[in-house]
Amino acid sequence: MTYRAPVEDLAFTMRHVAGLEESIAEGLYPDLSVELVEQVLEEAGRFASERIAPLNAPADRTGAHFADGQVTTAPGWREVYRAWAEAGWNALPCDPEWGGQGLPTLVQTACVEFWNASCMSFALGPLLTAGAVEALTAHASEDLKRRYLEKLVSGEWMGTMNLTEPQAGSDLNAVRTRAERAGDGTYRITGSKIFITYGEHDLTDNIVHLVLARLPDAPPGTRGISLFLVPKFIVNDDGSLGARNDVRCHSIEHKLGIHASPTCTMVYGDAGGAVGWLVGEENRGLACMFTMMNNARLAVGAQGVAIADRAYQQALSYARERRQGRAPGAGEGMSPIADHPDVQRMLLTMKATTHAARGICLMTAAAIDRSRLAPDAEARRKAHERASLLTPIAKAFSTDIGCEVASLGVQVHGGMGFIEETGAAQHLRDARIAPIYEGTNGIQAIDLVMRKLPLADGTTVRGAIAEMRKVGTRLVASRDEAFGATAARLREAVEALDDATSFFLKALAGHSLADALAAATPYLRLFGIAQGGTALAMAALAASEARAAGDANPAHAGRIALARFFAENIATGARGLAQTVMTGASALADAEAALAG
Ligand SMILES: Cc1cc2nc3c(=O)[nH]c(=O)nc-3n(C[C@H](O)[C@H](O)[C@H](O)COP(=O)(O)OP(=O)(O)OC[C@H]3O[C@@H](n4cnc5c(N)ncnc54)[C@H](O)[C@@H]3O)c2cc1C
Repeated sequence: MTYRAPVEDLAFTMRHVAGLEESIAEGLYPDLSVELVEQVLEEAGRFASERIAPLNAPADRTGAHFADGQVTTAPGWREVYRAWAEAGWNALPCDPEWGGQGLPTLVQTACVEFWNASCMSFALGPLLTAGAVEALTAHASEDLKRRYLEKLVSGEWMGTMNLTEPQAGSDLNAVRTRAERAGDGTYRITGSKIFITYGEHDLTDNIVHLVLARLPDAPPGTRGISLFLVPKFIVNDDGSLGARNDVRCHSIEHKLGIHASPTCTMVYGDAGGAVGWLVGEENRGLACMFTMMNNARLAVGAQGVAIADRAYQQALSYARERRQGRAPGAGEGMSPIADHPDVQRMLLTMKATTHAARGICLMTAAAIDRSRLAPDAEARRKAHERASLLTPIAKAFSTDIGCEVASLGVQVHGGMGFIEETGAAQHLRDARIAPIYEGTNGIQAIDLVMRKLPLADGTTVRGAIAEMRKVGTRLVASRDEAFGATAARLREAVEALDDATSFFLKALAGHSLADALAAATPYLRLFGIAQGGTALAMAALAASEARAAGDANPAHAGRIALARFFAENIATGARGLAQTVMTGASALADAEAALAG
């Protein structure tokens, strides 16, 4: 099944939901125009659809191979990776000082969706390289930047992120990998890391590992973790590759999905210690790693959108071909299953939730850009807080949607969905990792309620809700009957979010930690529904205005219908979620008894 990059929809969402035009008008993106953004999306979409997407199913079957410490990627990958990097796609968001194109996170996030929809296993390596580039740009010494950044930016080398150890997953307090000062400004790293994405592969000549480790005199817990750059090959002063470092891949995992992305167990220091260079300050490694993780969290959210859109496109195409039964009002013969109301409900749920998640991801990206580029400090601070609030929602809501939509995609196919040849099953298998890595979705929900709601004494979240209300007011003012009950249902969802938010702020002020933790996940879902419904409504309002002004593009009617479907069929669950948040936690007091019974 082919993949068609949704270029027009991404551009529309960037303009009318993520404020692209306002940002250009304010001078945030001085070198950009809407036309240029559209051209970039067009080219990226073409590369994704024509060059990467055909690799997806065959690479899933072949997987990555491990033998004698080497990993071989799937046939065709080296060529496509090189063509992709040579076309400049790896350098898109990076600092021009190191050869990057300096395009905003907003544009990068749209492209990340295309790469991941075309082949998630392929796109995952560059996703982590982008995080490594960002962490090094922000925290590395000038010497490290000079030695590594240009080649990481061009894609000549790739980067990895090494946090996880068998006893240290969500809880990085337990990291045991050791770092010793060598006395010459370098360090010797010893230990092992598990689940390292693209820890070893044959796509590039060098691999630059960013590794969390602990110095001998480090304080316990996360305050004693430092970040090190550990290259596979040590880089000489003239930039050429020198000796092989003391780091090797021990094995790769056999997984449910993303078969073609090598997930490696890495061993550091078998022969006396891998040579590492400190990034940032000693014992401040987690703060540096968070630079990389926040970038990666939004990108993983975009992966959720990507896999959902790919699954939706495939399900829609199948549903239009496959004939069974007779749809209401149809003539003689069997109808395409796409004409049956229950299948339409599934397809609309897939499309509406995917677009809602896309809107949230692009809003988050725009807030990140504003936090860096706004001319005055106060605007940058506010935007930073908004981006911080939205990042866990972008990651967790979108990746949950990725799984749900991919599962519905299998359902639309009926029995054929369960058969590997159709490809629907691959999307479901691939989607399943995204709620787990880059901080599980449970950890994202805890981050949202414990760290993000209290930001600026709750004014950040209150500000976000106030903006949702404004969109509701615009809906009420719109005289377009096609909106149906969109305004009323969306308003109810936003009020449910407001009630649940008040509950949390009170619980946190009263230190009812258990209540807050127990209700975090349903709260994040509720937030995603209200924010996602708002994003759809913003796109629909722009579509309605365009129609009123005489624009006959049929996509506009679709946008209004989609926002309405979401409001009337999905946002209606918001009140129930608010109820769960506010009263459901008490039942957890009896969790042990219930689990024992
Ligand atoms: C394919 C794949 C690729 C990966 N790539 C990388 C990589 O490149 N680099 C890297 O460093 N790691 C990588 N990981 C590791 C990944 O980030 C971890 O698996 C993830 O952080 C979860 O850790 P864990 O597996 O130890 O689960 P655990 O931490 O044991 O969590 C198990 C469950 O308990 C919940 N839980 C844990 N702690 C709490 C808490 N305090 N409160 C509430 N619930 C909690 C979790 O939400 C989860 O549901 C990868 C993993 C996989 C499978």
